[in-house]
Amino acid sequence: MSSLISLVVPAFNEVLSIRRNVTVILAATDGEPEVELILVDDGSTDGTTAEIVRIAAEDPRIRSLHFTRNFGKEAAIHAGLAESKGDCAIVLDADLQHPPELIPEMIRHWRSGFAVVECVKIDRGRESWLAKSFARVFYWVLGRFAGMDLRDHSDFKLLDRAVVEFYHALPERRRFFRGLIYWAGYPTARIPFHVAERELGVTRWSRLNLLRYAIDNLTSFSSVPLHMITFLGTVTLAIGMLIGVSSLYQKLMGVALDGFTTVNLLLIIIGGSLMIALGIIGHYVGRLYDEIKGRPPYLLKAPPRDAQ
Ligand code: UDP
Ligand code: MG
Repeated sequence: MSSLISLVVPAFNEVLSIRRNVTVILAATDGEPEVELILVDDGSTDGTTAEIVRIAAEDPRIRSLHFTRNFGKEAAIHAGLAESKGDCAIVLDADLQHPPELIPEMIRHWRSGFAVVECVKIDRGRESWLAKSFARVFYWVLGRFAGMDLRDHSDFKLLDRAVVEFYHALPERRRFFRGLIYWAGYPTARIPFHVAERELGVTRWSRLNLLRYAIDNLTSFSSVPLHMITFLGTVTLAIGMLIGVSSLYQKLMGVALDGFTTVNLLLIIIGGSLMIALGIIGHYVGRLYDEIKGRPPYLLKAPPRDAQ
């Protein structure tokens, strides 16, 4: 029985390699009679848009979506999945860091009954020591606070139609693909893989982007930071009371110094804790605001017609 396999590939400024990489990705699905490839152009500014339009015009299996501006990889995955029609959909990067050779194995696992097939990183490729430590801390916090063990997970996943439908039907706007698929809990097969080196172009993630992404994803799965405020407040109060009792004692015994140290300490501790607390609450309020505004997670534009 033949089935339609969808490939969803987000691409942002990949003009150097997109054509060759699409060929490699499609070649990996050679055994499949029915394949569709959806290229999601995430507001590229380097000529990728025109290149994608050309590539799509040359092969009827390829379709393209174009964002009005850069909405981010999460939005691109979301749009690609929403557009896919396949009995299953495979999400993979445009830079071949997700080895397409694994696709046949993913499909085999899916046919044997798994709703999700995820490829997990054996190593993280050539990342800096700082990036690796950052990832380790992020995943530790996520495991500890949100109960989600996402260590070594990647966005390289195969989803059954049912999972794609679930993902599409979610009302959330700002999404964390890996987290949500994990949270959904469908029967999952895992394939380990080595992260290939990026051959052309550079990573699109700056340090600041990564930090923002980490905080967003953590707070979208856990409200522990909010509860921590209560904890922090209790600790501050306890320290304050100790200092208070000791000052009072000194005062009563007539040995009170002029007290600047105490006042300074109290100001710093209480002021700092209040700021942190407000910041955390502010972050959640901001997220609520974003969700309530109900703006779409991405906007599509018509592809330019004169791409030649
Ligand atoms: N990407 C995207 N929008 C962005 C950033 C990245 O669609 O704003 C795509 C990019 O073209 C690539 C994939 O997401 O196909 C992974 O990006 P990148 O290689 O820069 O990230 P890394 O591999 O370093 O995590
Ligand atoms: Mg990459």
